[in-house]
Amino acid sequence: MGFMRAMVLSAPGQPLRLEERPVPAPGPGERLLKVHACGLCRTDLHVVDGELPRPALPLVPGHQVVGRDVATGRRVGVPWLGGSCGSCGYCASGRENLCPDAAFTGYSRDGGFAEYVVADARFCFPLPEGYPDLQAAPLLCAGLIGYRAFRFADDARRLGLYGFGAAAHILAQVAAHEGRTVFAFTKPGDRRAQDFARRLGAAWAGDAGDVPPEPLDAALIFAPAGELVPLALRDVVPGGTVVCAGIHMSDIPSFPYRLLWGERTLRSVANLTREDGVRFLDLAPRVPVRTEVVPYRLEQANEALAALREGRVDGAIVIVP
Ligand SMILES: [Zn+2]
Ligand SMILES: [Zn+2]
Repeated sequence: MGFMRAMVLSAPGQPLRLEERPVPAPGPGERLLKVHACGLCRTDLHVVDGELPRPALPLVPGHQVVGRDVATGRRVGVPWLGGSCGSCGYCASGRENLCPDAAFTGYSRDGGFAEYVVADARFCFPLPEGYPDLQAAPLLCAGLIGYRAFRFADDARRLGLYGFGAAAHILAQVAAHEGRTVFAFTKPGDRRAQDFARRLGAAWAGDAGDVPPEPLDAALIFAPAGELVPLALRDVVPGGTVVCAGIHMSDIPSFPYRLLWGERTLRSVANLTREDGVRFLDLAPRVPVRTEVVPYRLEQANEALAALREGRVDGAIVIVP
C-alpha cells in the first residue's frame, strides 16, 4: 500500500527520527487507520527519555490516536491499552488494565506519530461527534486515565490536582461540573498555569508546597514528582485519598507515619480499561469538556516533546501528521 512518514524512536534518550516506512498491514482482528491527530502525553516523554523498561524498539510512540478506519471510513480513537489476553484472572474480573500480557500503544506496539497505524479492533473507541479530531485526541489518555484516577477520589468534595497539565485541565472541568471544589497546584511560581487553572474552574491555584485554604478530601497527583506525595498526604483529611496517576514518578521521600495515619489511602492508577473509555467518552460531551490543544506537525514531534518537558504549554499538545 506504499509508504508513510513516521517519527521513530531507535534508542532511549535519542531524538525521534523522521522515517519513510511501509504502511503497516493489519493482521486478523486488526484495523488499519489513517491518523488524523495523535495527542502527546507525559508517558510518551517517559518512553523517549528511557524511564520505562523495554520499549519495542524501533518504535513509533503516541497513544492518543484519532484516525479513520481505512476499510470502513469510521472515525475511531485508539488509547494506551492496545490489547489484553482476555483470559487471565485480571481480564476475567474487569481489570484488564493489570493484564500481564497487555499490549500498549506507542510502547509495546507502534503508535500514532505516523500517517498510519494498525490497531486491535477490540480496543478502538467510537468518538463523540461534537469533537473535531484535534480536540478529541487528548480525551484518549489525559481524559480517560485522568478520569480513572478521578473515580478513585470517590465523592471527594474538595479535590486537589497536583500538576496542571493535559489531564488536570480536563478533570478540573469534570469536577466543577459535578459541583466539587478544585484546588490546583503547579510548579512554584508558574503564574501562567495558575491563571489557566482558575480559568478552567479551579477555586484556588497555588504553588506545590503551599497549604491550600481548606483541607482536601482527595488529591490526584499528575506531576511525576515523588516529593508531592508527602505534601498531598499532609493536605488531605483523615479518611482522604491520594492517587498517583502517572506511570512514572521520581522516588518518594520518606515521611512520618502520622501523614498516612487516620485511614488515609495512598494508591496508584495503572492504565485503563475499555469500560473507563466508554464511560468517559460518554461523559465528556455532557459536561461538556473543552480541550485546549496546541498542534505540532509530525516532523516537529521532538520540539513538541521539548515543550512538554519544559512545561511551556497550557492544555494538551497534539501531533498532526
Ligand atoms: Zn489478561
Ligand atoms: Zn498517556
